Amino acid sequence: MLRCHRSPPADPWGPSGRAPRAVPRRRTAAYDGSRVADAVTHLYRSGGPMSDLQTFIEGLPKAELHVHHVGSASPRIVSELAARHPGSQVPTDPEALADYFTFTDFAHFIKVFLSVMDLIRTPEDVRLLTFEVARDMARQNIRYAELTVTPFSSTRRGIDERAFMDAIEDARKAAEAELGVVLRWCFDIPGEAGLESAEETTRLALDLRPEGLVSFGLGGPEIGVPRPQFKPYFDRAIAAGLHSVPHAGETTGPQTIWDALTELRAERIGHGTSATQDPALLAHLAERRIPLEVCPTSNIATRAVTDLDRHPIKEMVAAGVLVTINSDDPPMFGTDLNTEYGVAARLLDLDERGIADLAKNAVDVSFLDPAGKARINAEIDAYTARWQAGTR
Ligand SMILES: [Zn+2]
Repeated sequence: MLRCHRSPPADPWGPSGRAPRAVPRRRTAAYDGSRVADAVTHLYRSGGPMSDLQTFIEGLPKAELHVHHVGSASPRIVSELAARHPGSQVPTDPEALADYFTFTDFAHFIKVFLSVMDLIRTPEDVRLLTFEVARDMARQNIRYAELTVTPFSSTRRGIDERAFMDAIEDARKAAEAELGVVLRWCFDIPGEAGLESAEETTRLALDLRPEGLVSFGLGGPEIGVPRPQFKPYFDRAIAAGLHSVPHAGETTGPQTIWDALTELRAERIGHGTSATQDPALLAHLAERRIPLEVCPTSNIATRAVTDLDRHPIKEMVAAGVLVTINSDDPPMFGTDLNTEYGVAARLLDLDERGIADLAKNAVDVSFLDPAGKARINAEIDAYTARWQAGTR
């Protein structure tokens, strides 16, 4: 997710319903994300082993566990939303829209994000966004995704809460039936919006509980937003049977991850980038098999990590920590899940079998039912076997 800015944005909720970080950063998120994606794309286009691996990745059935709802609105989806609301400032022509999505600085990024939020005005807009995000996933051979939704951002903008739930559920069922993409929801608290948003998100999750809801999250800036204050809300969500998956340790140190584990009873950690600063924490994560949802390009874009070669994923894996690969807010960072797998393959020096194992990690630690997990894992194995036999 995006947080870097030099001055407060016009809307405190920012991308994916979460505010940008209140810390000065050196470059804009999307700019850096594009740079990383370009570098990776160049590797694949240059031919040789990486391009072959990338072809393998593109056809590989995958699951994604850390990806945001509005943050997944691609230019194509934004164009469709803009066409529904003539008179908005967002261009509908694909070429003009591509320019519009080329962020010149952080203020521009915020402007674009808010204009996208402004296009999500009705339950039908929510349905369209959700279904079209699933269509983009289907094109990447993503079979299952836990999509982080911030209902507070929509309900506070006046969308009826029951109609919102119906819209995402309708899209979920259609995506599964028509696209073969199974969606589940993580409702997250936009931390910077305070305890009011925590209370409201908990109420929405527990009182209106849509069928596809499996987990409860916490996003937004970490600096100045201590995790422990959200304990009562996570306690209620966990008591109601939801899984705990807060963001932690992306922009702050390992103590935030400890807090997420001990106070919020996290079952997976969103990002967890700073875990490598604390050997005891790494050992704990490995021993308890608590997975990290790693989003490499996002980490570079937001400057949580200075450059890809210094990404701590190698140390995480070396310490025996289970990692999954994710895209966070893919169009905003100029990436997608296939690109992120390519990045991971390079960083971890993986071959096809290693990449397939990484994909199975995500399936194994997802909140999908056992039969669904077995089905996708069998698909991954069959695809990999065909590839290795040269019969693809
Ligand atoms: Zn995120």
